[in-house]
Amino acid sequence: MAYKIDANKCVGCKTCMGVCPANAISVDNNGKCFIDKNKCMGCGTCATICPMSAINPDL
Ligand code: SF4
Ligand code: SF4
Repeated sequence: MAYKIDANKCVGCKTCMGVCPANAISVDNNGKCFIDKNKCMGCGTCATICPMSAINPDL
């Protein structure tokens, strides 16, 4: 299972990028982070540390 970032909640702090063990998180042209579903291992670490609770399982 992969995780996804809600762009409406993301403030672009990039905290999630630093903790992802799969380097699955990048920044888009609007300064918001997004997750590459093909790289995400579903560990949930990013969701735990996001200050905006913008990251959740992609159900
Ligand atoms: S930690 Fe949360 S608010 Fe910060 S860049 Fe990642 S998704 Fe956005
Ligand atoms: S769930 Fe884990 S592997 Fe997937 S983007 Fe978040 S930190 Fe990276």
